[in-house]
Amino acid sequence: LVSVKKKEGEKRMPISENAKAVLERRYLAKDEAGNPTETVDGLFRRVANAIAEGDRHFDPKADVVATARAFYDMMTNLDFLPNSPTLMNAGRPLGQLSACFVLPVADSMEDIFDAIKNAALIHKSGGGTGFSFSRLRPKGSTVNSTGGVASGPISFMKVFNSATEAVKQGGTRRGANMGILRVDHPDIMEFITCKNDTAEITNFNISVGITETFMEAVSANGMYDLVDPATGRVTGQLNAREVFDAIVQSAWQTGEPGIIFLDRLNRDNAVPGQGEIESTNPCGEQPLLPYESCNLGSINLVNHITRTVAGWVLDRAKLERTIRTAVHFLDNVIEVNQYPLPEIDRMTRSTRKIGLGVMGFADMLLYMGVPYNSEEGVALAAEIMDTINTIGHQESQRLAEERGAFPLFDQSIYRDGPPIRNATVTTIAPTGTLSIIAGVSSGVEPVFAYAYIRNVMDNTHLIETNQILKDKLVEAGIYSEELMRKIVEQGSLAHVEGIPEEIKRVFVCAHDVSPIWHVRMQAAFQQYTDNAVSKTVNFPNSATKAEVAEVYRLAYTLGCKGTTIYRDGSRNEQVLNIGKVN
Ligand code: ADP
Repeated sequence: LVSVKKKEGEKRMPISENAKAVLERRYLAKDEAGNPTETVDGLFRRVANAIAEGDRHFDPKADVVATARAFYDMMTNLDFLPNSPTLMNAGRPLGQLSACFVLPVADSMEDIFDAIKNAALIHKSGGGTGFSFSRLRPKGSTVNSTGGVASGPISFMKVFNSATEAVKQGGTRRGANMGILRVDHPDIMEFITCKNDTAEITNFNISVGITETFMEAVSANGMYDLVDPATGRVTGQLNAREVFDAIVQSAWQTGEPGIIFLDRLNRDNAVPGQGEIESTNPCGEQPLLPYESCNLGSINLVNHITRTVAGWVLDRAKLERTIRTAVHFLDNVIEVNQYPLPEIDRMTRSTRKIGLGVMGFADMLLYMGVPYNSEEGVALAAEIMDTINTIGHQESQRLAEERGAFPLFDQSIYRDGPPIRNATVTTIAPTGTLSIIAGVSSGVEPVFAYAYIRNVMDNTHLIETNQILKDKLVEAGIYSEELMRKIVEQGSLAHVEGIPEEIKRVFVCAHDVSPIWHVRMQAAFQQYTDNAVSKTVNFPNSATKAEVAEVYRLAYTLGCKGTTIYRDGSRNEQVLNIGKVN
């Protein structure tokens, strides 16, 4: 079965020492003593061979060697990388390849504890889980069988949280969860502040599920109904603006809760016949039906530009090739994946959702000389994502001709058009680890910092500089350690003397980008993404609550599916440190 063989020594890969260290620590197969039993090159051969095997499910005579070679080249050139579980587990006994899962939580003790058990199995395999707790009866309702009172969704979230804490993921990833509660659940106020004590529910990101009815009540400054999910009865009313302000207050204070727009997720629900979408995966980019899983993959945009006399431009032909190979790869992942539960196996194979996205977008802009916070930057985002979405769908349709449409095609929003292999094709993931492996900026986020201090042993400090900036400053003849030190101190180039305006204009960091531009960029990507976009809107520490509220409203009007905000210095730790420079 080994089709990409180890030939003429190890391939020389464009992988940095830092990336190698991450791979060695967390991704390479190891023996019982913890010593790696494969090399970095071996990892990519293992993954390429295992995923290429999927071709044989449709054609016993398929040229698996050629496919494996194409997958291997695409990964080792760092043109595309699949999500972490695929790198860790493909071709190994566990074989669980998806990053994202959503599990249902129904309103009974059996169902709640089944969900906890199932989540533990998923965490063990490296996946993240999302849950809607909206179906649980509110705190204080009666429990028929015992005559007692129910303890409500938030108390159960704490049980999920403790279970997650106890399951260390194969010694590498600790479980990550998303917890969602509808804004019309009677316990919503308790939910909004449930993480204000930063020692509580630490293994969850939380988001309020916002409805359009609620947003209309906010703008009309009216009341809205709270509904007991167990009985369907209206239990009371709240003033929408007060609830909205409470969400803003808490997010301003701690970065949580985020918000997701439920009606919008469901407007893009590809198979509405299977019920409503109530939750996303932990970082919010992947809305899923109960028991669905999704595997993600990201194209490294830095590798898809080419230098011309007029400067760096998009290499469209290469981008198109990578998109097609990546869709083929991700569809094969569904074939060879070993699912942690029979229900997940069934649901995932019946919709066959994949999530192709990008990383290195901000770095690409630096090469092209385009500021992130500019009309040109936003237009480029839309153009690139439009291409990925359009070609990605074409490739999925081509695969459907060979392999058939996804089984629930007839119940789907696509049923009047050409058959398609995957119910969704595109998603923008945070690429927390993948971007470190590829050595590029994460997902579609702006560069977080251009220079920072790294502590090395014996208490010496090293200044690490973004290579693209360094090259630029050297070219301009102004590079010096001294200048770098100033950038570290100020956290940005914006007010450093001696740097030409043109360089300052392009080399903006996350905090130079105003919240409005963050949202506009997210919206530009969202417009051409089937699923959702992982994005944090960064605020300076001095930001006001009114500014946070404005961003929420803007995210709603510009068509985003949700928002996560983070005000500098408002929290010491996060469940997932997205974009953290390490
Ligand atoms: P990676 O770069 O490791 O492939 P991402 O940062 O792009 O992963 O995250 C993608 C998704 O993977 C997340 O939304 C979540 O569903 C899952 N995920 C990320 N980190 C973890 C973790 N520590 N534990 C469980 N799942 C995770």
